[in-house]
Amino acid sequence: MSPDTIKAPRGTYDVLPGQSVARAALEARARAILEGAGYERIETPAFEHTDLFARGVGASTDIVQKEMYTLTDGSGRSLTLRPEGTAPVCRAYLEHGMHKRPAPVKLWYLSSFFRYERAQAGRYRQFWQIGAEALGSDDPAVDAESIVLLCTLLAELGVGDVRLRLASLGDADSRSEYRERLQDYLQTHSDRLAPEVRDRIGANPLRAFDSQHEATRAVMADAPRLLDCLSAPDAEHFAAVRELLDAAEVRYEIDSTLVRGLDYYTRTVFELTSDALGAQSGVGGGGRYDRLVEVLGGPQTPAMGWAAGIERILIASGAADQQAPAAAVDLFVAFTEPHLRARAFALVQLARSAGLAAQMELAGRALKRQLGHADRLKARYVAILDDPQSVLKDMQSGRQEDVASDAIVHAVLRGLRDMV
Ligand code: AMP
Repeated sequence: MSPDTIKAPRGTYDVLPGQSVARAALEARARAILEGAGYERIETPAFEHTDLFARGVGASTDIVQKEMYTLTDGSGRSLTLRPEGTAPVCRAYLEHGMHKRPAPVKLWYLSSFFRYERAQAGRYRQFWQIGAEALGSDDPAVDAESIVLLCTLLAELGVGDVRLRLASLGDADSRSEYRERLQDYLQTHSDRLAPEVRDRIGANPLRAFDSQHEATRAVMADAPRLLDCLSAPDAEHFAAVRELLDAAEVRYEIDSTLVRGLDYYTRTVFELTSDALGAQSGVGGGGRYDRLVEVLGGPQTPAMGWAAGIERILIASGAADQQAPAAAVDLFVAFTEPHLRARAFALVQLARSAGLAAQMELAGRALKRQLGHADRLKARYVAILDDPQSVLKDMQSGRQEDVASDAIVHAVLRGLRDMV
């Protein structure tokens, strides 16, 4: 390859032939599980007004501060490639009046997302997520059902060594009270905190729990926990979610340090990790976002959802390395002379309209190499068009017979039917 050959941008990847089969299987499984539970598929645009994410995801989050692909279009509008799916789904929910439908409105998606992150194994700049959102109900059973569905999906896809961590962030009141307590605590220990944590004590003190900085981690080990400061209704809601998960025999760990990287979460939050993955062990996660629809200008709408990374699911289930077998070819049409190309072409169209998987010689090979190619494709039958009589060869038995060109499709159909 010449040195100025253009390659895919860093942090992106191609889904090559053979790899798409594992992804299609994942999609089919997800569809069966989610649609079986009443979720309907939704597809939103790849880009949105930047303001949707600034407002919806939160101006102080890493995503909004550092990771968005934002561009100004020809009319001077600021647009952003979607970095996540929940804010767009809420936007669509409001825009199409879905809040008038009976609650909960359950939506799922499988789309690509864009974040300017440090690219590494399992972390990409364009990645795919499968997500599910249930809007309009604050029933704890919605939380539990949502979590169970993701656990089921991962189990059925063969994602091994999965751990479920669970917490509650409380609602706005519990949170603001707790926030003040945490801010006081962080201020008292500010000299030991990482500079970026110290800078965000005012804007986002909870993110201090995410820091990898050693001294910060030591400070956070003794920090007050939100779970210990929940209001009575939040504590009750959390207990109900746990009770339902227990009833469904879902194993989980309560993790009072669990903080999600998006501002909109309230009450239940959860994360699923797989020890089958390396450093990037997060497979999926989500939680309740009872204020988001309101923040986007809609009515007060409790909601719950999650997203899981396709690449990580494929890696953790071992499906990423599986090469899918090539698709079956019922009939390959070869021809002895170039002037028979048009007849071969017509025959392939006829065969396809009869439901056969048919291909023909398309690279000007001599007959011998056409047959070699048909062999490589593992074609079940090969028709060799000749003037006046053609030959049909059964590649399994090696038998061959003279046939008129217009009888070939019937002969193949008959042969395939007799096989069953
Ligand atoms: P988040 O939307 O950040 O809560 O992420 C949910 C899930 O999406 C994670 O658990 C990962 O599986 C996946 N994910 C998030 N960011 C990336 C990325 N940059 N590359 C690949 N997968 C990602």
